[in-house]
Amino acid sequence: MHICRIKRIVEHSDIHKTFFLDIKMDAMPGQFVMVWIPGIDEVPMSLSHIGEETAITVEKVGEATEAMHRMKEGDKLGVRGPYGRGFEIMGKKALFVAGGTGIAPLLPLIKIYEGEKHVVLGAKTSKLLLFADDIKKIANLHISTDDGSAGIEGFSTDVARMLMEKQEFDVVYVCGPEIMMKKMLDLCIEKGIEMQASLERYMKCGVGICDSCAIDGYHVCKDGPVFSSNVLIKIKDFGEWKRDEAGRKVRI
Ligand SMILES: Cc1cc2nc3c(=O)[nH]c(=O)nc-3n(C[C@H](O)[C@H](O)[C@H](O)COP(=O)(O)OP(=O)(O)OC[C@H]3O[C@@H](n4cnc5c(N)ncnc54)[C@H](O)[C@@H]3O)c2cc1C
Repeated sequence: MHICRIKRIVEHSDIHKTFFLDIKMDAMPGQFVMVWIPGIDEVPMSLSHIGEETAITVEKVGEATEAMHRMKEGDKLGVRGPYGRGFEIMGKKALFVAGGTGIAPLLPLIKIYEGEKHVVLGAKTSKLLLFADDIKKIANLHISTDDGSAGIEGFSTDVARMLMEKQEFDVVYVCGPEIMMKKMLDLCIEKGIEMQASLERYMKCGVGICDSCAIDGYHVCKDGPVFSSNVLIKIKDFGEWKRDEAGRKVRI
């Protein structure tokens, strides 16, 4: 475990902050780290910035992420990793579909992808759209909001369908709520396009030992978090079931 300091904090919204850390990490987009918040918990976080700078983008949802949001520049965090399988770069034209905080693992991939790139950035409302200005500079950006406060009113999957009906893509990269990723899988199967999605499950060890993130014989921490469509179609729990912190199966 590396003990590192928070170099810089960028506040995007009431519930989103990016924490730049004073470590260098050799990682693939889609890989994650286990972040230890001293005295509170250890939680998995995707790397939203890789290379020159290392950062994680954190949505405040519960105890650990609230504690992180209270932290200041100079405070210490523990980091283990990088872990898991990241995105595989393929094809010459890609569609990236992000829902909410799901843009975090996709951002470093969008930056290094060398072909033509279209990004659907979806959020509940305009204030929760992350990294839109950065993405606009490097890709074709299509925005959707549930309430119509920016871009097209509707879900990111609706915009993705519109784009996929008009254009051909070699690959679709997805991260967001699992219901949305399941819809994208169905759409990609219908169109015969390869998809890669980053899954979220409750994790304790991050290295395939504790079984917390087991899903139909796969460990999300080791075999994922990025899975390709040919594996996702075999995972019956995908879009249906997850496990809570006690290991109980709960409906998604
Ligand atoms: C591989 C991987 C990568 C991840 N990357 C990121 C990332 O880049 N940024 C990020 O913000 N989060 C990311 N997460 C999710 C993050 O790990 C959890 O949000 C975090 O562990 C919640 O901890 P907590 O103690 O704050 O909340 P808990 O106290 O554990 O949960 C509080 C409440 O929030 C709910 N909850 C938990 N997680 C989520 C969630 N993701 N969305 C909505 N509700 C939730 C719980 O069901 C519970 O009701 C990732 C998860 C995985 C597995």
